[in-house]
Amino acid sequence: MDHTEKYDIEKIRADFPVLEQKVYNNKPLIYLDNGATTQKPLRVIRVVNRYHSELNSSIHRGVHFLSDQATNAYEKARETVRNFINAEKKEEIIFTSGTTGSINMLAFSFGEQFLEEGDEIIISEMEHHANIVPWQMLCERKKTKLKVIPFDDNGVLDLEVYENRITDKTKLISVTHISNTLGTVNPVREMIRIAHKNGIPVMIDAAQSIQHTEIDVQELDCDFLVFSGHKVYGPTGIGVFYGKEKWLELLPPYQGGGDMVDIVTFEKTTYNELPFKFEAGTTNYIGAIGMAAALEYISEIGMKKIAAYESDLLEYALQKLDHSGGITIYGLAPEKASILSFLIDGIHMLDAGMIFDKMGVAVRIGSHCAQPVMQHFNIDGTLRASVSFYNTKQEIDYLCKAIQQVKTMFT
Ligand code: PMP
Repeated sequence: MDHTEKYDIEKIRADFPVLEQKVYNNKPLIYLDNGATTQKPLRVIRVVNRYHSELNSSIHRGVHFLSDQATNAYEKARETVRNFINAEKKEEIIFTSGTTGSINMLAFSFGEQFLEEGDEIIISEMEHHANIVPWQMLCERKKTKLKVIPFDDNGVLDLEVYENRITDKTKLISVTHISNTLGTVNPVREMIRIAHKNGIPVMIDAAQSIQHTEIDVQELDCDFLVFSGHKVYGPTGIGVFYGKEKWLELLPPYQGGGDMVDIVTFEKTTYNELPFKFEAGTTNYIGAIGMAAALEYISEIGMKKIAAYESDLLEYALQKLDHSGGITIYGLAPEKASILSFLIDGIHMLDAGMIFDKMGVAVRIGSHCAQPVMQHFNIDGTLRASVSFYNTKQEIDYLCKAIQQVKTMFT
């Protein structure tokens, strides 16, 4: 559908077949679990289907028609990603299995090349486990140290502490752009500036920002940036690792196998050029093509329009939740994305979640793979409603109705 005109929510929703679902006793599905994964527009579904049914063939290897078509589409997808995040070069875009795959790749590769015993890596207290555990594993391997930037009770990072944490042993800073639990939009531009002043590279976890805000890696000046296809309306099992060419040239490959090599003998192997050096084996080429279709789709709607619409929904939701009373919201940073973590006072999240589910409201319950955030607030977990550009104010109203229902039943 053509989305070049005004923001037409009905038209947008019609692009997402899953949103038409009815659950349980014919209840409309209210999908508010977009932080976990996003739904797929028809454009993506059709592209993935078409490549499986008409054009499937291993890329970069065949000399036949199908292989040629698939290779071209895969490389075109790389260009689409480059353009979407405004990377300088196509060679700086590496396809991976997702954010987790990308971070593990950096932790291994950067760790092997640049870290020595006693070196330090800085992350923040609000990271997803995917941006904690690979660094801890690296610390065990290399006897390096992980340092943490704390956040205050509104979910705002303490930049003064951040600056103080940096020493001449600090080799890398890896922070999330938007917290998947608190919704905080971190001042990454400023954090990168501070890091670079000290000669330290920065990785940005954009798993929760790529779908909500315009990203320009050259303007941000980040050294690395990672995200997952499935959180930006694309397929699962595909993701992106962006790195400045100067770094990618220096980093050793993460995995060995087909396609990432130049010449292989039993004595020695030389590696392929960028970006293939980091893409060992048969990649998820149909996933990459599907993800590119998703990026084209949201680009046509316009990231600015999406951000403005979501910000309006967030404002509305915050007001409604406030009016509901008896609700504690975790994460009230002034710069906040449409992710709402909350608890209904005196009611266990599992009880609330069960009623929500029976009413057709899909939210996430638990620690959201960010246990240190829960430890900060001394809680087991939260309910999390994460709102996308296809959600509506009526759906927020329905969420509030579900909250009232829970209160009625449990108090
Ligand atoms: N980082 C953040 C901020 C996330 O929200 C997520 C997914 N919840 C991840 C990393 C991991 O993403 P994936 O599971 O797609 O690899």
